[in-house]
This record gives sequence, structure tokens and C-alpha cells, in this order.
Amino acid sequence: MATLILKRGAERRIRAGHPWIYRGEVADLKGAWAAGAAVEVSDSTGRFLGRGFYSPRSSLVCRLLTRVDEPVDAALFHRRLQAAQRYRQDGGLAGPAYRLCWSEADGLPGLVVDRYGPVSVIQCLTLGMARSADVVREALAQLFPGDVIVRLDDPTAARIEGFDPVRESREGELIVEDGAARFAVTLGTGHKTGLYLDQRDNRALVAGLARGRRVLDTFCYAGGFPWHALLGGASSARLVDSSADALGLARRNLALNGVEGRAFIALGNAFDALRELEARGERFGLVVLDPPPFTRRKDAVEAAARGYKEINLRGLRLLEPGGLLATFSCSHHVSAALFEDICRQAAGDAGLRPRLLATLTQSRDHPILLTVPETHYLTGLLLQL
Ligand code: SAH
Repeated sequence: MATLILKRGAERRIRAGHPWIYRGEVADLKGAWAAGAAVEVSDSTGRFLGRGFYSPRSSLVCRLLTRVDEPVDAALFHRRLQAAQRYRQDGGLAGPAYRLCWSEADGLPGLVVDRYGPVSVIQCLTLGMARSADVVREALAQLFPGDVIVRLDDPTAARIEGFDPVRESREGELIVEDGAARFAVTLGTGHKTGLYLDQRDNRALVAGLARGRRVLDTFCYAGGFPWHALLGGASSARLVDSSADALGLARRNLALNGVEGRAFIALGNAFDALRELEARGERFGLVVLDPPPFTRRKDAVEAAARGYKEINLRGLRLLEPGGLLATFSCSHHVSAALFEDICRQAAGDAGLRPRLLATLTQSRDHPILLTVPETHYLTGLLLQL
């Protein structure tokens, strides 16, 4: 096995619990290596740090899979996925649809596995994981005998890492039952692997507060927040999204849950919709703002902050007295503290002083590793006027 030798000092972050190695931190690569195969990683004095897959094309050339002297083989994958499943099961997180494996947070950087009923969806995000897909399939077949496995790689990650994304299709929609709620997933279409599973806990929270309220969600995607709120007794819901496909999914889910009669759906830009609703003097008892990441780059955080500030200012102004705002950011570079600060400024500019009822984050089946801040990407606030 080849050895990746780090420059002096580069081992500090690794020893502090972070698994990533950037190209600029590498002093030397010794021995016969292959793209996507496992390499040993050592510090500048030759001390063993761990093993991970080598990704020559990416600026992130290696992410550690283990920190002990053990082979990166089928048994390792099996142990990791078993531990991931145990964590979800023990925590009561293994619902009808949940994330079974979340990359770094589950000790398998570059691998996502979502479960939709009896279907496991594999998403490979690194070259090494793409090369290990069959091993992942075998481990999943052992964990869930007889269940279906579908591979749906992320094309952007595949381009960066230099592999051909595999996207297997599965005919028809899958209906997932979640307590009283039901939703349709067509694997291979739409965002993520089918659903925003990371908002599951927050949707339940919002649904529990929705009774009798008029709801507005201007980045509604498949309507997750609104139809949960309507099932929770909301009097009506207004859904806005700039994607006609997303609204098609939302319509389907509203109908599946028999709540379409209390929903108004409009194709449009959230920024315009918020402005127009305010101009018309509309007021809501519950506003949900869950936009896509406004930045994926560190140097664009300021522009992103302006976007967040604008929608939150308008969202707050649309609240009736006692109204609730559930607002989120999934931009990796916008920290929870920064997001709170942006919302504070929005409230100040709006001349409003909302109560902070709760700080929100991703569902616990998307665990956060304390030593890997990047695993904490979804942050939110529940505010009340
Ligand atoms: N809250 C949803 C996920 C929202 S994803 C859930 O829980 O499932 C973000 C959504 O915002 C996507 O559906 C995307 O189409 C939509 N979107 C992106 N930019 C937009 C804009 N400017 N106006 C309205 N919708 C937008």
C-alpha cells in the first residue's frame, strides 16, 4: 500500500479529530498507488495516522476511514454500517424514511445511504467510495436481507472526484407511510436522494405548533412543512417554489394526505412573493423559510447574508401578533452564530422584537461530529412575534 506523508504540522488537525487531508498538506506519496484505492497516511516523521482512499483529482486528496492499523476491507464497511444502524435504532431514528449513513459523521467519508421503507439508496461522493460500491451493496444486503438497493450518485461530486456517476432508475413512485402522514418518493428525480430527510424533526415540531394557523412556505419543495402543518390542524397553507417540478411533488403529497383543499400553490420567486404578500397586507400565523444554500463558497458569505437578511426581514413582517417564523440556513459557511446575528439584524430593521423559542438543527439521523464542524450544516431559529 502506498503511503501519503504529510508536511510538518499538517498532522495537528488530523490528531484533533478531523479526517480531511488537502493536497497542499502532502509532502510525498511513496509506493505504488492507484486512484481511489486505500493509502496509509503518516506524519512527517513517519508516524502512522490512519488509512483512507486516495483521490488524486480532488483538492481533498484523502479522508481518513480508520485511525487504527486495520485493513480497509468489506469487514470495515460492514462494521461501520452496522454501528450506524444501531445508533439510529437505539435513538428511535430508524423511521419509515431516514438517513442510515452520513459520510464523515458515520466513519465512512464519501458515502451516504438513505432508507425509504424497504429501499436503500446509495450515494457515492468520492472516487474511493464509487470503487467500493459493490462492497457497500454486500454489507447492506447482509443488514437488510431481501431489500432493494438503488445507487444514485451525485453528479457534481462525481465530476470533482473524476468518476462516472451511476444513477439507477426505479420505475414508479414509492409511497412511504409516516404515522398518519404519507408521502410519495420517486427515486432518481428531484433533490437529494428524494426527500429532505434532514428536516424531519423540524417538520414534526412545526406541525405540533400549527393548529389554527395560516401557513406560508416560500421555498416549499415537495411541500414537507405545509402538508405536515395542515395535518397538524393549520387552517390553510400557501406554498411557493420557483420549480414547477417541486410543486408537482407538493401537489401529489398534499393530495395523498387529503389536505389539498386547504392549500394554495403558486410558482414563483420567494423574494417577489414575500414582497407582494407584504404589499397586499397579508398576515400569517406560521412562516417557514428553508431556502437552498445561498452560498457554497466561503468568499460569498456576505452576499448570502444579505439574502438571508432580506427574506427574514420580510418573513417577520408577514407575521400576525403571536405568529411563528421557522427559518433555516443550510449554507455550510454560515455558522449558527452568524445566522442568529443575521436574523437579529433583520428583526432590528423590521422594528420587531421576536422571542427566540428554539434554535434548530438537522435531524439526529444526520449526526454532528464535534471535531468535524462541517458535519453541522443546517441551522435554524424558531421565532415568535
Ligand atoms: N423545506 C423543504 C426543502 C426546501 S429546498 C423540505 O423540507 O422538503 C429549497 C427549495 O427552494 C427548492 O425546492 C428550490 O426549488 C426552491 N427555490 C430555490 N430558489 C428559490 C427562489 N428564489 N424562490 C422560490 N423557491 C426557490
